[in-house]
Amino acid sequence: MLIQEHVPLAPLTTIRVGGPARYLVDATTIGEICEAITFARTRNLLLFVLGGGSNLVVSDAGWPGLVLKVGIVGTEERIEDGKALFEVGAGEDWDKLVARSVAQNCAGIECLSGIPGSVGGTPVQNVGAYGQEVGETIQGVLAFDLRDNQVRELCNEACGFSYRASIFNSTERGRHIILRVTYALTPGGEPRIDYTDLKRYFSGWQGVPTLAETRDAVRKVRASKGMLISLGDDDSRSAGSFFKNPVLSPEQYHALSARATAKNLQIPSYPALEVLRKVSAAWLVEHSGFSKGFDAGRVGISRKHALAIVNRRDATAADVIAFQEQIQQRVEDIWGIRLQPEPVFVGF
Ligand SMILES: Cc1cc2nc3c(=O)[nH]c(=O)nc-3n(C[C@H](O)[C@H](O)[C@H](O)COP(=O)(O)OP(=O)(O)OC[C@H]3O[C@@H](n4cnc5c(N)ncnc54)[C@H](O)[C@@H]3O)c2cc1C
Repeated sequence: MLIQEHVPLAPLTTIRVGGPARYLVDATTIGEICEAITFARTRNLLLFVLGGGSNLVVSDAGWPGLVLKVGIVGTEERIEDGKALFEVGAGEDWDKLVARSVAQNCAGIECLSGIPGSVGGTPVQNVGAYGQEVGETIQGVLAFDLRDNQVRELCNEACGFSYRASIFNSTERGRHIILRVTYALTPGGEPRIDYTDLKRYFSGWQGVPTLAETRDAVRKVRASKGMLISLGDDDSRSAGSFFKNPVLSPEQYHALSARATAKNLQIPSYPALEVLRKVSAAWLVEHSGFSKGFDAGRVGISRKHALAIVNRRDATAADVIAFQEQIQQRVEDIWGIRLQPEPVFVGF
């Protein structure tokens, strides 16, 4: 096991801010993960588990303890009860897995094409986009339990998936290191074309789009919103959507509608959001004076998506946090709703 010291973390994240890790281990086996845990425990070091760094804001001071990057790779496939099971190492690249499943004509994660990060990161916030969430197809998660040092398989129900949440980022945060994830996909299944953007893309299309065509559509739509990481696109130097869509109580929803009506505005409603009385955070941000392309110095709002805070040039974590708080405050003042950030904050 190679233990590196004073490793800059910004290049290991997609928004590229933050200071160094005191120690960093890139563990490629369960044995190395156990060794790294022992190393941290014997020195009383705080442990942070790193995947692809696409949902993180690291503080400028960095992480004073051990950053454990989970680099377990390998994919095994088998058919069970008519389902195609993909059992995948947590360190595998998520989008490569989607590409592989689509190439094998297996449905279930095609709408999640183009999301950056690792396979092990997907159960944590129950990654979702364009009408699908991983919680619908995850059969089980193999995890190291830091509480009793056991490796065990958690079934889907035990993961407690809900909108952008699971036990891994809520009730049992920090307890598990995800080692492998098993997805149960449908061989020959049809793609999910429920989401407005996809319906629009395929309007006038002859017949049902294939999984490959759906993947292609999702990636194109994502690219148009700066939500596909591409080297030449500085609007993709972000942590993705910075705020969650707020889920409102009937009273909160009523109060928000009243504020909108007073301004001669109508809160946009999408079938996918209506079910939970979820309101578009992007709409709230845009209608609080932060339009696409808003310039706040070294940070700003993506030119293509109102919900992404981007690192324009050499931003610090402090720049990102100050801008986040400015947005939260303005949205709260105008709309009476406190937006909750989606990324994980490390070392604050
Ligand atoms: C351009 C862009 C677009 C995005 N679009 C979407 C989207 O459409 N939908 C969506 O849901 N998300 C989206 N995201 C957010 C992000 O890509 C996902 O949340 C992704 O799954 C995070 O995975 P990661 O490996 O990068 O995790 P990291 O960012 O490294 O870590 C995130 C959290 O997961 C934990 N973690 C990571 N790996 C493990 C592991 N093996 N064991 C235990 N804990 C672990 C970390 O400790 C941390 O708490 C987007 C991000 C960007 C930059």
